[in-house]
Amino acid sequence: MDKNYHFEPELLIDLINSLKRLPGIGVRSARRIAYYLLQHDLKSASRLSSSLAKAVENLRNCKGCNGFTDHDLCYICSNNLRDNKLLCIVESPTDQNSLELSHGYKGLYYIIMGRVSPLNGIGPRELSFQRILDRATDGIVEEVIIATSFTAEGETTAQFLVSMLSEHNIKTTRLARGVPAGSELEYIDAGTIAWALVDRREVV
Ligand SMILES: [Zn+2]
Repeated sequence: MDKNYHFEPELLIDLINSLKRLPGIGVRSARRIAYYLLQHDLKSASRLSSSLAKAVENLRNCKGCNGFTDHDLCYICSNNLRDNKLLCIVESPTDQNSLELSHGYKGLYYIIMGRVSPLNGIGPRELSFQRILDRATDGIVEEVIIATSFTAEGETTAQFLVSMLSEHNIKTTRLARGVPAGSELEYIDAGTIAWALVDRREVV
């Protein structure tokens, strides 16, 4: 059969191709989601489309932590009650969310929005580590807490951060006890994260 044979309308194929680009979604799931939304839940489909358009249009990276915000500074960065002497570095907003849910941390954050992955050509430069350094050496921060995942790439990211920060004599700690090797922060329960924060150990 002709490889370019398509019986589905172009608009549908386009939607499936867009969904297919999402993490963890293959072509079968993409097709199933598209069919479902269009056939059974047009209301949700419209809502999804409008929230996505609004988010893309209005959200940007916070000037303080690099997380998502619709202002210059996000809710956490602009909260005077947070301890601005502590800076916790996480890989993603999901990880920040896990730390917030633990209620064990009252400092500020920097969100890398990725992790070092030499095999994929992602290094400190691609992740703008210079911004982290600028943030950590602003004269206010007294301790940097590295809370990258305990996976191979998370550990590599931590190593790069440690060597960068050690050149500037910044007190640097890493989450400790109870976080199993190979773990993504988002799958660890809040209590364990709270303990890991309390028991963080100095690495620089
Ligand atoms: Zn922020």
